[in-house]
Amino acid sequence: MSHSQRVFNFGAGPAALPEAVLQKAQQELLNWKQLGMSVMEISHRSKEFVQLLETTEADLRSLLAIPSNYRVLFLHGPARAQFSMIPMNLTQSGRANYAVTGMWSEMAAKEASKWTEVSRACDSRDTDYLSVLDAKDWQLVDGADYLYFTANETVNGLEFLSPPHVEQDLVCDMTSNLLSRPIDVSRYALIFAGSQKNIAPAGMTLLIVREDILAREHGLLAQVDDYAALAEKRSLLYTPPSFCIYMAGLMFSWLKEQGGLSAMQARNLSKSNKLYKFIDSSSFYSNQVDKQYRSSMNVVFHLYDKALELSFLEQAKHAGLCALKGHRSVGGMRASLYNAISIEAVDRLIEFMDDFQHQHNVV
Ligand SMILES: *Cc1c(COP(=O)(O)O)cnc(C)c1O
Repeated sequence: MSHSQRVFNFGAGPAALPEAVLQKAQQELLNWKQLGMSVMEISHRSKEFVQLLETTEADLRSLLAIPSNYRVLFLHGPARAQFSMIPMNLTQSGRANYAVTGMWSEMAAKEASKWTEVSRACDSRDTDYLSVLDAKDWQLVDGADYLYFTANETVNGLEFLSPPHVEQDLVCDMTSNLLSRPIDVSRYALIFAGSQKNIAPAGMTLLIVREDILAREHGLLAQVDDYAALAEKRSLLYTPPSFCIYMAGLMFSWLKEQGGLSAMQARNLSKSNKLYKFIDSSSFYSNQVDKQYRSSMNVVFHLYDKALELSFLEQAKHAGLCALKGHRSVGGMRASLYNAISIEAVDRLIEFMDDFQHQHNVV
């Protein structure tokens, strides 16, 4: 398929991957490293695969400047498996603080309550998930095992610019914004991210965990749920998600070529700022999220005239702008602007949105 037949894909996940990454995978698909087979068909214990795993980890470490007292794990499965694995592995006192700021942290808090006593540090339900209580006013249970928060609420379009300053071990779901900008890993006890938003195809979860967390004692756990067991075997306790690891490796190389995470941050901010600016200047579209929490990854917007939503989506698709429908719990539209989305894609979207509003007599 030629470049011109690919659409602009604003889907929230599984999401667009950079064309250069897909092309490289295509070139190497039948014959990886002159082995006469694909990376999907080779033993995960072969020296070539183990080397791939090591290079991929090293690239991630250099992109995120991960300190040496952190372990990186490439795990099978959905991001939400961590909603239970975190309390299973980290619970000591039996209490944990959860910042509830959108659909994903709401689900994480609910799931965690099967293993630990969940205390809501803040609850954005009061604002229809449009804002977040200032972290200095959060209610934190002393002696809790950790404070959990979601760095970017993919469905609601809220993002934390920096982690809260608190004296507790921070556990963070970065599924939809890991690698979108530099972060200070040392501020966190544990970071996790499902692969299908900004990293690779679906099927893998990345875990970055401080070593002392692995030493916490816990009750009886299945081996595949036990962080210490997984870390001890360096992601090879089981057959790892080998194709996802390979694709993540291609993505990390691509990110390095793009100038690393500072360059991505500048590009991502310019994309989202442009779109928010356009929405704010229009009397046809709206975004209600508190400005200091607006996500640079997932821009949620509504048409004031809801009756036009279907025709907006149809015409957008016709113009090659796909997957703009908002999550069913929020409605409206959502443009996901992950790393793979070019500035050109955002320009085309804004152009389309402008044409559409003019069609409906907005000047
Ligand atoms: C998509 C998403 C998840 C869930 O991912 P699954 O792999 O489907 O479990 C969790 N958290 C956030 C922030 C997400 O965007």
